[in-house]
Amino acid sequence: MLYDNLGINSQGHLTIGGLDAVDLAGEFGAPLYVLDEDQVRANCRTYVTALREHMPQGSMPLFAGKALCFKSLYPVLEEEGMGADVVSPGEIYTALAGGFPADRLYFHGNNKTDEDIAYALDSGVGCFIVDNHQELARLDEAAGRRGMRQRVLLRVTPGIDPHTLQAINTGRIDCQFGVPIETGQAARFVADALSREHLEVEGFHSHIGSQIFEAEPFCDAVDILLDFAQAMRRAHGFVVKTLNLGGGFGARYQESDPVVDIPGNIKALSEHLRRGCEEKDYPVPRVLLEPGRSIVANAGLTLYRVGGVKTIEGYRSYVTVNGGMTDNPRYALYHAPYTVLPASRMNDPRDFRCTLAGRCCESGDLIQENILLPQPRRDDLLAVLTTGAYNFTMASNYNRLCRPALVMVAGGKARLAVRRQTFADLVACDL
Ligand SMILES: *Cc1c(COP(=O)(O)O)cnc(C)c1O
Repeated sequence: MLYDNLGINSQGHLTIGGLDAVDLAGEFGAPLYVLDEDQVRANCRTYVTALREHMPQGSMPLFAGKALCFKSLYPVLEEEGMGADVVSPGEIYTALAGGFPADRLYFHGNNKTDEDIAYALDSGVGCFIVDNHQELARLDEAAGRRGMRQRVLLRVTPGIDPHTLQAINTGRIDCQFGVPIETGQAARFVADALSREHLEVEGFHSHIGSQIFEAEPFCDAVDILLDFAQAMRRAHGFVVKTLNLGGGFGARYQESDPVVDIPGNIKALSEHLRRGCEEKDYPVPRVLLEPGRSIVANAGLTLYRVGGVKTIEGYRSYVTVNGGMTDNPRYALYHAPYTVLPASRMNDPRDFRCTLAGRCCESGDLIQENILLPQPRRDDLLAVLTTGAYNFTMASNYNRLCRPALVMVAGGKARLAVRRQTFADLVACDL
């Protein structure tokens, strides 16, 4: 099995967190997102413990809400000592609705509108991660009008290519996020920020990419950020208190993916950072990380019912399921790999090669190609693993399909966290 929280029971059914997947689909319907809360908590603890152990005081992981965002996730994050990174007023609203403390929110975005800025300031968001000059000016003005001084981090791009998919690679210079160091623009960005009366600059932020399996690219980013910090200290006497190194540690989608040693990587990163600071006689800043995928991906799976099989003679067999790109657009977007299991027939021989197709009117609506299943029968239950990140949050109502429910599993019990949409929800905004 790809993960420890998965098992097979005496009926040959897949279990997650000790619960029978067939029972879950029976009770809550399919398609269904299932999230193992105990696994989410364990993943949070791995980060919190490693940062506490190896990094300076005040270091903290911030959960990246773009990976997964619904109300009752936030009490879990709060209890585990996480901060949270939010990218829109909608994510701020959701976190606050879940009782998350506003001062532990870090607000991202490369185009925060004036309304977004006002909403975040009035909500008491702890820190803004400022993306560009225009935002600096707008935020300074808005904070001034409220008689506030807002804590900020400045997003810079170190120009690192962590060798991942282009579409999820943001550390390169040529991208729409942050201000590049190499061109000299980041130096002007810092000078501008320090001159702003209503902003308190705490440090820098960089996010180099996603699905990264080792510490090395983060160490490279630290080198560049420390050189830059040193230059800024010389120029302005400004000393970085906080270094936010972004998210990006990977998840195992298939057996061939490595297991990421998060504590080991954080330890290596810490040693690298301390050595770099020592060489420059620079005070070691506290470190923030923004894990998304590595907190929730392996805690989630999606259950689907099989509709039927269509064999195109001389070509291939399509197995259709009652969901698709509406609940998981990642194969359609960038051919993301997944592991698919026959949840209701785990002990049957898997000798039927096929492509898993969704139900949307779109030939690109595939979940995975070239997989092996037992010869499928109508109403078989299938599980697509590792869908805890970037599935629920990327879902759509294409073809006016209702979004699935999300069930949280904890301590051997399941509870509905997000109910399935109804037809009435689909027309709720239609006038
Ligand atoms: C996407 C993103 C993250 C989370 O990345 P993961 O790969 O899910 O860990 C964190 N910070 C920023 C700025 C991001 O854009």
